[in-house]
Amino acid sequence: MTSAFCQTSLLVVQPTPFCNINCTYCYLPHRTSTKRLSLETAEPLFQKLLRFPTVWDSVTVVWHAGEPLVLPPDYYEAMFQLIERVAPPSLKVRHSFQTNGTLITPAWCDFIKKWNINVGISIDGPAEFHDNYRKMRNGTGSFERTYKGMKALQDAGISFHVISVLTLESLLQPEKMFEFYAVNGIDYVCFNIEEQEGAHSRSRFVNETAGDASYRAFLQKFLELSFRSEQFVPVREIEHALRAIAAHGQQMSNEEAEPFRILSVDCEANISTFSPELLGLEHHAYGKFEFGNLLTDNFEKISHRITSSKLYADVAAGVSKCRAECAYFGLCGGGAAANKIFENGSAASTETASCRKLMRSVDVVLDLIEKLPASAVAEELAKRNRAEPPAAPLHQL
Ligand code: SF4
Repeated sequence: MTSAFCQTSLLVVQPTPFCNINCTYCYLPHRTSTKRLSLETAEPLFQKLLRFPTVWDSVTVVWHAGEPLVLPPDYYEAMFQLIERVAPPSLKVRHSFQTNGTLITPAWCDFIKKWNINVGISIDGPAEFHDNYRKMRNGTGSFERTYKGMKALQDAGISFHVISVLTLESLLQPEKMFEFYAVNGIDYVCFNIEEQEGAHSRSRFVNETAGDASYRAFLQKFLELSFRSEQFVPVREIEHALRAIAAHGQQMSNEEAEPFRILSVDCEANISTFSPELLGLEHHAYGKFEFGNLLTDNFEKISHRITSSKLYADVAAGVSKCRAECAYFGLCGGGAAANKIFENGSAASTETASCRKLMRSVDVVLDLIEKLPASAVAEELAKRNRAEPPAAPLHQL
């Protein structure tokens, strides 16, 4: 089925807002709440959501916006079976967990294998960097537990990607960061930066200009080490930049700048779109970023609320400004609404710290292409083994 809107490729579903750890840069405001998405709510929710005219032949469900593994495998067994039962027969649904890894056990590994779940672990490199920010609720570092969870996945032969938040400290130590991924056989890394959103209202990365230059130097060194090493470590940012450059000026689209491409649903069936981080947040210029509830509202009502919202108008205005003003627009497609709102005060704006990350990644790849032809770089990257890339443009967690 097709519709006037873009295809939804990603559903970010919140099984619970609760998180068992307490990262200092976390943007989630309700991470102490133990509410959960019940099967009673999930049934009508998925019945409606999976039949939206924007959901076509396949979709990925990312269980996130809280720590998904605080709920047991039995919970997901029942949930996934329910989804299989209510989904249109022609729809392919793939599940994905983005987790802090601290709760992974052999039982989780069996479950992950059984359902072929795409897994992302949030780990910020070695303990000396990870433990500065990713704290247990008692204030101690969470590295040891996350590392144990990661090793359990590896022992079970499960491939996964890693999301690492780069901080001003780790950016200065590309050698230590590279060694960590190489020694531990991590075969796909996504670098996020410490963002400024929701409950995390001031990021040092965003507010200190040193971050920008350090990021470029970091990535350059990391790539150099990777090419020199036996153990190549693929990096999402490099792959994205290379893909954008290889598209030869065909404009890239941006999932976070187009309504319905990503739909985010909280554990009470409230729905949002554009950047997944917007779900559950509020801003003085926009209020809550919710456009309805799947238990009471139909697609027409929700889509009308989205397209008549200030957010929708401002995101479009922001994309137009980007198109007019930014030399990187063709490679970016207009940026993430959440970053624009929480850094610049409005979605009708342009550059953010996340943009500068993209720009510096492109610069690093262009530097590399100056030394090697683009096709050789692409071939070299493509022939390296790696885990499946993440299904989501997930920030931060
Ligand atoms: S300003 Fe940022 S969001 Fe806008 S096109 Fe440039 S890189 Fe993308």
